[in-house]
Amino acid sequence: MTASRRPTLLLILILLLTGCRGADVWRHTEIVPIQPGQTLHLRVAHAVNERLPRMTPEQLSTLLEATRNTALEHFGVHLEFSEITETSVDAVLALVPPKVRQVRMREIYDFKSGGGDHKRLVAGILHTLHERKTKLAEALAYARPYLPDTADPQSLQEFSVLLADVMLARLDDWRTIRANDGKPVLDETARNEWIFWDTVGYGELPYDLVITNQLLASAEYTAVEVHTAIRGGLTTGTTTFSRSSPLGSFVFWSTFPFTDTSAFSRSLRGGEDYAPSHAAALSGAYLAHEVGHLLFKFGHPFGAQACVMNPASMLRYREWHQQLDAQRCRIGSIPEMRVGAIPEIYNVEWLRMAHQP
Ligand SMILES: [Zn+2]
Repeated sequence: MTASRRPTLLLILILLLTGCRGADVWRHTEIVPIQPGQTLHLRVAHAVNERLPRMTPEQLSTLLEATRNTALEHFGVHLEFSEITETSVDAVLALVPPKVRQVRMREIYDFKSGGGDHKRLVAGILHTLHERKTKLAEALAYARPYLPDTADPQSLQEFSVLLADVMLARLDDWRTIRANDGKPVLDETARNEWIFWDTVGYGELPYDLVITNQLLASAEYTAVEVHTAIRGGLTTGTTTFSRSSPLGSFVFWSTFPFTDTSAFSRSLRGGEDYAPSHAAALSGAYLAHEVGHLLFKFGHPFGAQACVMNPASMLRYREWHQQLDAQRCRIGSIPEMRVGAIPEIYNVEWLRMAHQP
């Protein structure tokens, strides 16, 4: 859901083991300075999986309007969007360079075949908790309402085991959801895998924003955050490296959590479904969160409810939206709202691989 779902030091270790040059391979993208009142032009695509419900052109227009309004109110920038290019999920994922795909596949916990390494999953979560300097009490305060009643972890290690178990159990819930054709939404394809979406920008991606109706739910050995784990590995959106974007990054954005009316989605929304135009407007407002990562590299002020950059709890987007207050969350007012709080990184080795025939 975030720019901070990104490759981590653990990955660097993996790269070391696979013969790459370790920490040398990671670079920060440049921060493009943005002035108040500036107008930014974003190239937009809609990547469709025909098996799943999709937003209508009217909904997409409502969505982008809400993004525009929220970005102006909270960040003081004017967004212009291109005409929306319609494409397919498969066409977008086909942009991942084959050699980079091979390397990144190793980060995927295969929850479909049951061939995943549970210990490694726990270690990856623990690593990310340490990397984010997570305090157990604070993380528990955030996650407690969405954990089993009996959960009582006494250490980050125990918390990691708990998060892994909760994530895998809820991933199984995502597997029960059916598509338009009556078959599971999470099929044998890799369309749901965050790792591949996160790698598209190493190819020649001609968009800054890719909206998709795909359900993005998966488990990875790297970069699993608390808020993602408790949602069963569900990603709403991510801002990540793009070699062909003038901003150095692009956003991928799933409308599925806003439109899906399955019992499981509804339960994560606190018991409600959204009417179509409301789903579009909420999705657009929340997309401004990614715009904050994309343009300003803001972090996550967990619990600062006035801020667009505070991640929504589970799928409670309406609640998230009601709490926003631009006056109480100015740029620079708290550390996570400073420009450059989480700079984007990319892997030079993968970039080199992407250019090899
Ligand atoms: Zn985020």
